[in-house]
Amino acid sequence: METHSQVVERLRSVFRSGVTLPEQFRRTQLTKLMSMIKDNEQQILGALHKDLAKPKFEAVLSEIDIVINELHYTLNNFKSWMQPEYVDKNLATKFDDCFVKREPLGVVLIIGAWNYPWQLLLLPMVAAVAAGNCVVIKPSEVSAATDTLIAELIPKYLSQDCYAVVSGGAEETKSLLLNRFDHIFYTGSQAVARSILQAASVHLTPVTLELGGKCPCLIYGQVSIAGVARRLVWSKFFNAGQSCVAPDYVLCSAATRDALLPELRQALEDFYGKEPQTSPDLSRIVSARHWARLMELLKRSNGKVAVGGESNEDDKYIAPTVLVDVSEDDALMEEEIFGPILPILNFESLQDGIDFINRKEKALALYVFSNESSVINKVLENTSSGGFCSNDGIIHMTLPGLPFGGVGASGWGSYHGRWGFETFTHRRACMLRGWALERLNGLRYPPYNDNKLGW
Ligand code: NAD
Repeated sequence: METHSQVVERLRSVFRSGVTLPEQFRRTQLTKLMSMIKDNEQQILGALHKDLAKPKFEAVLSEIDIVINELHYTLNNFKSWMQPEYVDKNLATKFDDCFVKREPLGVVLIIGAWNYPWQLLLLPMVAAVAAGNCVVIKPSEVSAATDTLIAELIPKYLSQDCYAVVSGGAEETKSLLLNRFDHIFYTGSQAVARSILQAASVHLTPVTLELGGKCPCLIYGQVSIAGVARRLVWSKFFNAGQSCVAPDYVLCSAATRDALLPELRQALEDFYGKEPQTSPDLSRIVSARHWARLMELLKRSNGKVAVGGESNEDDKYIAPTVLVDVSEDDALMEEEIFGPILPILNFESLQDGIDFINRKEKALALYVFSNESSVINKVLENTSSGGFCSNDGIIHMTLPGLPFGGVGASGWGSYHGRWGFETFTHRRACMLRGWALERLNGLRYPPYNDNKLGW
């Protein structure tokens, strides 16, 4: 059994041999990754069901197809992303070759979280492999079945010389982080991100942080309330609310809230039936610890349960729950909810809603529902967030052309599509000079005088 430092050193010497550099090597590995997913789809779905009772449809959409799409997009484009990028020149560099060379960073570490345990490791892995790195991936121990499957499949399909899986929890991750990596890509909570940064600072390792926070959802002006309810219910209760981009709370006027509540009840019944606990389309809370954390939040909240509220500890079940009369200082507003609980807060003017959002940390995503483009534009121009989507939730993250990542406390850096390739790439500034224009170049040599400056 290799130690963590032996794994990292082995990958480093393989990286130095240059084996990951050719485009064909990267293409072969990405193609093998595609086969790995296609050959083992049923096992992947089984592991995700074991970990989170993920409905098959949600798992296919958000764990399997999203990675397959990313692989197709990357395989179609990464050759052009690898090419040198020639830049504008001036008179003094007219005869030189001036370009940006894309180089892999080296040995990179990808640490995943449990809520989308397959996607959150495999999407960054696609980018890191396409960019020509050696990769260590560290699945979340909380989603244990997926962790085990990843550790079994990756060495079976991909080059064992270049890619390694290290399993374990906080202690193993801390030990792994004692080693020098060329980049650390971390997905998880803000609290753990602080210790990742501390460990990275020892080696001055650059870090991408994919974190969370409270994603606001603002409803304002003319809008089809039934449509809002369906899209809101889908994006909030997908994966039982355990999505980093799930709408965390709703801001709307009292009149909109009154119109919204019956539509939310209707949408919930249409989607999950009269008894959501028996619905096969609703995930469960990942662990007893997270179930207890959410129940504690509900207990401490001064809001009024308007929909749902039922729970079952043995089943790690919490019904899709909506609370009204929630104040800004309520327990539900202290931290990211990350579960099937949706508080509704009231405001009357659009400016009040914008001010509310701007008093909080910058969110990973911000949602606005309105038929009025002036409302959408006003929110877009007067707030900041990692991503922004009007009249829907979550869906913006499925497009590989858009960067996915946070800003401020919701994360640093981004990935998906070319953005991921760039994250795992060094852009080396290259100037290849010849001997032309020596008299012009000679103007910079001493002895200096003002004439040489053109004065
Ligand atoms: P988690 O418990 O799975 O932890 C994430 C990773 O950190 C795991 O691999 C775990 O082993 C490791 N870890 C835990 N404690 C550690 C420690 N002390 N030192 C080093 N490593 C440690 O997941 P979580 O932290 O509960 O994740 C939930 C959070 O992740 C939420 O805030 C959510 O919003 C965020 N998230 C963000 C994204 C995104 O893409 N931005 C995606 C998913 C989740």
